[in-house]
Amino acid sequence: MVKTRFAPSPTGKLHVGNVRTALFAYLYARHTGGKFVLRIEDTDLDRSHSDYIDKLIEDLKWLSLEWDEGPIVGGPEKSYLQSERIEIYKYFANKLIEEGKAYHCYCTPEEIEHGKKEMEASGKGPIYNGRCRNLTHSQKRKFEEEGRIPVVRFIAYDEDFEINDIVKGNVKFPKGMVGDFVILRATGLPVYNYAVVIDDALMEITHVIRADEHLSNTVRQLMIYKALKFKTPEFAHLALVLGPDRQKLSKR
Ligand code: GLU
Repeated sequence: MVKTRFAPSPTGKLHVGNVRTALFAYLYARHTGGKFVLRIEDTDLDRSHSDYIDKLIEDLKWLSLEWDEGPIVGGPEKSYLQSERIEIYKYFANKLIEEGKAYHCYCTPEEIEHGKKEMEASGKGPIYNGRCRNLTHSQKRKFEEEGRIPVVRFIAYDEDFEINDIVKGNVKFPKGMVGDFVILRATGLPVYNYAVVIDDALMEITHVIRADEHLSNTVRQLMIYKALKFKTPEFAHLALVLGPDRQKLSKR
């Protein structure tokens, strides 16, 4: 069965670009007799506001874009608000650590920046240098005694990835594009590229229909699917809505 989703971040009011994305996901689910899920991606606590969640829900209802699973209507998942799913993200992050696919990283922003410059100077991309990949227990203890709180970093695969995007066609992501990337922040909150995969997989989304601007994020997401042996969904990246001046029309 087809299952699509609309996954807005409540950092502002719904705009025409969001609505168009939601409409495609909604119509594809209805057309195929599938299900349409609404998920609120509110883990950026500085920018997310509950008022915007209420407003988003009100606007989607006004547009008659009714969801089969999500806030208010519920569904098989305990919650459709990412801020209420933190334990799930922690569980999978621990699993990745136990399997040697992720690690605690204690680097300061300055150390990360310095490492990236070195990587660039050595002819690689400006990516994280993997400094904390193989820390010993005593090195970790020393950092902890200094009061450093680690993030969880995922070990990027050194291989090519590709998708057959329903809109874009074959898209290749050559290896070396991304270095080990953060999946859980020091606050314990997940980053978008990680949480989105956990949720799309657990919510059994078959078709990820979203804006073009997320195409470049897809490579990180493919790596998480692979590491957790989750089934990769189909992707459809929709072009942005432009105004007559050919500028991005994302004014709320
Ligand atoms: N929360 C993301 C956004 O609003 C969702 C992206 C996605 O659909 O994967 O852009």
